[in-house]
Amino acid sequence: MGNFDLLKVKGVSRRDFMKLIGATTAALGLPELFVPQAATAMEQALKKPPVIWLEGMDCTGCTESTIATLNPSAAELILDMISIRYHETIMAGSGNKSEEAYQEALKDKFILVVEGSSPSKKEQDHFCMVGGKPFRTTLIEAAKKAQAIIAVGSCASEGGGIPGACATGAVGVSEILKAEGITTPLINLPCCPVKPTTLIGTIVYYLTYQKVPPLDAQNRPLAFYGTLLHDNCPRRGHFENGEFLTDWNDPKQKEYCLILKGCKGPKTYTDCAQVWWNDNANFCINAGSPCSGCSERSFYKEFSPLYSKQENFKLPGIGQVNADTVGTVIGGAAAVGLGVHLIATAASGRLTHKDHKEDL
Ligand code: SF4
Repeated sequence: MGNFDLLKVKGVSRRDFMKLIGATTAALGLPELFVPQAATAMEQALKKPPVIWLEGMDCTGCTESTIATLNPSAAELILDMISIRYHETIMAGSGNKSEEAYQEALKDKFILVVEGSSPSKKEQDHFCMVGGKPFRTTLIEAAKKAQAIIAVGSCASEGGGIPGACATGAVGVSEILKAEGITTPLINLPCCPVKPTTLIGTIVYYLTYQKVPPLDAQNRPLAFYGTLLHDNCPRRGHFENGEFLTDWNDPKQKEYCLILKGCKGPKTYTDCAQVWWNDNANFCINAGSPCSGCSERSFYKEFSPLYSKQENFKLPGIGQVNADTVGTVIGGAAAVGLGVHLIATAASGRLTHKDHKEDL
C-alpha cells in the first residue's frame, strides 16, 4: 500500500491533508516552503509506531523544551522521526476531530508520552479535566493499551513534581499504574523540563531495540541518570577547596560552590553537567543557580525551599552533617590531619548508584 493510500483508508482527502500540514507547520513557525517536505515526512511517519502525548497537570514546559530542539529540529522530530498522532499543545485539530484522532491512535501499537501529573483519586478528578473527561480516566485508558509509557518531566515522573507538592493530591504516572495494577513498561524522564536529547534518545533506543533501556530504581534510564551531578560539576574544584558562595553580590564568590545556597547536586543523579538545555546553551549551575534536584523523586516536596541549604545530608565516611558543617569540615581538614581531597571525595558523594537508591 502506498503512503497516501494509508490516509485514504483513514478517510482523509489529499486536500484536507495538505491543509492540515499547512496549519501544523505554521503552528511550528516554519515557512510555507516547508509544507511539501513536511507532507512527505508525515506520510512516512504514518507507517511508524504512533505516539500519543497526553498532558495533565503541567505547564507545557516539557513540550516547549522538546520543540526547542535544533538538532534534530522540531520538524524532523515531530514529522520525521516519530509519528505524533495526538498532542494537545501542537496539533492543529481541535474538538471532535482531535478526539477522533486520539481514538484512532488508540487502535494502533502506540507509545504513550505523558507530561504532567494526575490527580490520584476520583474525588480529586475535578482538578484536571481535559475535553470534559477526567485526565486520570484518560491516562488509565491509554496506559492499559500502550506498548510502553514515557513519563516526561518531573511532574509525570515519580512524586508528581510541583503539583505533587500542593493540595491537589497529584501524583506521577508510576503511582497511577501501581494503584490500577497496570503493568505496561514505564520509563521516567524527570527534570524540569525534560531535555530533548533525553526524550529523543529514549524513543530511538526503544524503537531500535523494542525494549526499555536499562533503568535505575526510579525507572530512569541509566544512560542519562547514571551519574551524580556533583561528580561532574564545574564548581567542584571550589567545593574541594572549601570555597562556598555565601553572598550573591560578592564578585569574588561568583564561581564558588553553591551548596550553602541550597544546591542539591550531591544527591541528584542527572547528566546536566555534561548535556545542557537548548542545544547545549546552558544549565542551572552554570547560570549561577543551585541545582534544585528536579531529576529526583523528592523534588519539589522535600527539596524546597529551593534556595535554602539542605539542613542534613548523609556523607559516606562522615555520616549525617549539616550543610554549615561541610564548610567547616572541608576548610579545617588539614588542621585535623585529614587530606582535603580525601574528605572532599567522601563528602561529595562519590556515592555509588546503589548507595543513592538506598538513601532515597
Ligand atoms: Fe556543584 Fe552543587 Fe556540588 Fe557545589 S554542591 S560542587 S555547586 S553540584
